[in-house]
Amino acid sequence: MTLPRPPQTALRPLDDALAELLGHAHPLADHEAVSTFHADGRVLAQDQVSALQVPPQDNSSMDGYALRCADLTGPNPMLPVSQRIAAGASGTPLTAGTAARIFTGAPVPEGADAIVMQEDCELLPAEGDAPPAIRLRKLPVPGQWIRRAGEDVTRGAVVLTRGARLTPASLGLAASIGLDRLQVARRPRVALFSTGDELVMPGEVAPEQMKPGSIYNSNRFFLRALLHRLGCDVSDLGIVPDRRDATLAALQSAAQDHDLILTSGGVSVGEEDHIKPAVQALGRLDLWQIAIKPGKPFAYGRVQDAHFIGLPGNPVSSFVTFLLLVRPFLLKLQGAQDLAPKTIALPAHFTWPRADKRREFLRVRRNAAGGLDLFENQSSGVLTSAVWGDGLVDNPPSQTIAPGDLVRFVPLSELLA
Ligand code: AMP
Ligand code: MG
Repeated sequence: MTLPRPPQTALRPLDDALAELLGHAHPLADHEAVSTFHADGRVLAQDQVSALQVPPQDNSSMDGYALRCADLTGPNPMLPVSQRIAAGASGTPLTAGTAARIFTGAPVPEGADAIVMQEDCELLPAEGDAPPAIRLRKLPVPGQWIRRAGEDVTRGAVVLTRGARLTPASLGLAASIGLDRLQVARRPRVALFSTGDELVMPGEVAPEQMKPGSIYNSNRFFLRALLHRLGCDVSDLGIVPDRRDATLAALQSAAQDHDLILTSGGVSVGEEDHIKPAVQALGRLDLWQIAIKPGKPFAYGRVQDAHFIGLPGNPVSSFVTFLLLVRPFLLKLQGAQDLAPKTIALPAHFTWPRADKRREFLRVRRNAAGGLDLFENQSSGVLTSAVWGDGLVDNPPSQTIAPGDLVRFVPLSELLA
């Protein structure tokens, strides 16, 4: 007798799955104004145009003397010092045939066309009625040590664009054009829960009291931290037991007031995997087998108005699928333009002789010689690999790797920001 074969779902290429997932991520309509102090990591909702030029006027980039080059004659000319201009002062037009004492950041007086560093002159103190003077050791060239008005930002320039993720430097630039508040996308509201009867919370049961079969819930910790880094408001709903009624109740309450319900575990097709039937009962669900390793099972669906994403339970699978799929999804919800991490071609300093048929994301680390070392255990349960590594090698399906081969390195710093 031949048994009927279970239906074979074809594995989906990652790029297809990502494109479909991003097709569901419509940027959130509402924005909010936040203090520039608190806008790091948020996504800008409007172009920011400068109402002024930066620097506002020509200013000195050295402590020294402002002068007019045409006033200088002979190899070691002397000029009397006629005024003193500190940063924050405005100064007066330069008297012909004199120099002005000037400090870094102070406006260059009208009529001056160069700054001479104080190290390049000798100061001759005042004597009787004669004011102090300087003797130049070196002749200046016109324009030297002057920062020009508008050389950083011109009036009317778009300084930061809509969809940009704000960095510490962009906060400084926004401040330099006078912006104390910035219009940003509101934070996505994410409900997070872990599934699995084997899961125990650190702090609730001591290591020596752990029952056989129990493990600590590690996914909850890194998923929550990753969500925070992406600017989300997280409602952590804890651990949901492997029961249909509990899963339904958790999903129903999570669908209220959240943009996304994110779960880990329970998306395989074992009979203890309750996520799939529960989401199907409340809304709709697509269960994808994505052709990547680690991280094959992945679910996208809707529960009422909320998006639903189910990540695999194996910690490394959960971590990697979050970075590859959930991260760009959450950035797109916030209207971010730049969703793909920048990768670098680097030489492998390892061998990968038995490549998988799926596209693999190997945990590796840059070494001092500029190459990549491989973590020895690439199992999807070994979270140590993600701590040891500082990036992933994005390896095409069935591609073996020999030492010296150039591979595609995705720095974790690109994915964790
Ligand atoms: P599942 O996807 O529920 O079949 O889980 C796959 C594997 O991941 C099992 O070995 C689980 O015990 C483990 N796992 C699931 N959830 C977590 C979690 N939150 N923390 C650590 N391991 C987990
Ligand atoms: Mg499970």
